[in-house]
Amino acid sequence: MSDTTEPGSYFVANYPPFSQWHAAAVPTVLAALATEATGEPLGLYLHVPFCRKRCKFCYFRVYTDTSATDVERYSQALSREAEMASACRAVAGRTLRYVYFGGGTPSFLSVKQLERLVAGLHKSFGWDHAEEVTFECEPGTLAESKVRALKSLGMTRISLGVENFDDNILETNGRAHLSAEIFRAWEWIKSADFLSTNVDLIAGMMGETFSSWQRTVEKTLAMEADSVTIYQMELPLNTTFVRDSRDTGDPTAVADWPTKRGWVDWAFARFLESGYSISSAYTLVRNSEQVHFRYRDMLWQGSDLVSLGVASFGHISGLHYQNETHWDDYLGAVEAGRLPIQRGYASSHRELLIREMVLGLKRGELDVARLARKFGIDPLLEWAPQWQALLLEGHLQQIHPWPLLTRQGLLQIDALLPRFYTSAHSQVESVP
Ligand code: SF4
Repeated sequence: MSDTTEPGSYFVANYPPFSQWHAAAVPTVLAALATEATGEPLGLYLHVPFCRKRCKFCYFRVYTDTSATDVERYSQALSREAEMASACRAVAGRTLRYVYFGGGTPSFLSVKQLERLVAGLHKSFGWDHAEEVTFECEPGTLAESKVRALKSLGMTRISLGVENFDDNILETNGRAHLSAEIFRAWEWIKSADFLSTNVDLIAGMMGETFSSWQRTVEKTLAMEADSVTIYQMELPLNTTFVRDSRDTGDPTAVADWPTKRGWVDWAFARFLESGYSISSAYTLVRNSEQVHFRYRDMLWQGSDLVSLGVASFGHISGLHYQNETHWDDYLGAVEAGRLPIQRGYASSHRELLIREMVLGLKRGELDVARLARKFGIDPLLEWAPQWQALLLEGHLQQIHPWPLLTRQGLLQIDALLPRFYTSAHSQVESVP
């Protein structure tokens, strides 16, 4: 991988890569949904694809300029899809362990729209017994009444997309909010007293310097969030930044990878000094005894995930799937009474092990005993040359009794993981 931030996607969100998923697997996914479940925990993900404005680094399926009619139609489709999914044999009667409202911007919805959406979903899925219900928010979409409504609708974990505190940087990168909206929203979130709060940052946004990054980190520290998630800026091919750069011929001026790693390293050190601990390659937590990430941990350990909404990604009985990626196709399928699954992937036993291993490594250490018990294969023996190479490169502190990453290894984990892939999957990913 080159030091400069070249256009492309390096973040490993899943395995096998999305580029390997295909329409021919859809009947297999539907058959799995119609069959008894495997005994893994069950979660629910809902994709809310609306945003006030498209960030210039965004590669998700999002819609701006949306009318209230569009929101209502989409919300009804989510409820209808929930009804169909919850009636499947692999899902029916099971208790949800976690729920995640992601996007897009779930907080784009008004209180009335949220209440109608949740009421519609509850006809099919209750989450009274879920251990975590996460809701992603964009600061400028919040109001005190909306934050209170989120609490009473059962959200337990609020994740606030701050990204940066510098107004020039926020504007340059096309964010819809400015710093004043962050402070205002944070007051409301704190006083609503959610079980857990998270702040998202991005290191290396366009226009970032080390001193602006330091100011962002210090302001985030002052917020005393239960957890802080720091991503390193990358430039997927379908972003406005990359398209603009192609049109103008100007390079995209994002800091190179060693610089971004240095900035995240500095941030990690500041958070550690202030009592936080490292929970993964991207996340720090203020109290590791109390703060948990059910969504992340269960998903990374192979849980089932029923996924609702346009372009959303699910996982059932070891099979991956993705919903229709375009508005009309998604709504057309759901309104016609069909599950809107567009493509999938039936992983082999070995691929399931690789998936849990590469996702697990993002935690900074690997529970090889759990993987050996679950899959009957010892990862240390199976990938001995890869572990040895990582150790020699300074990315591992130890291999035995379990692999433990160094800080430098952790800071570039996504670049290290493809070496564990089967050769068919080793190319750089282009996220759809
Ligand atoms: S808020 Fe998130 S989902 Fe919406 S445009 Fe920005 S990056 Fe994309």
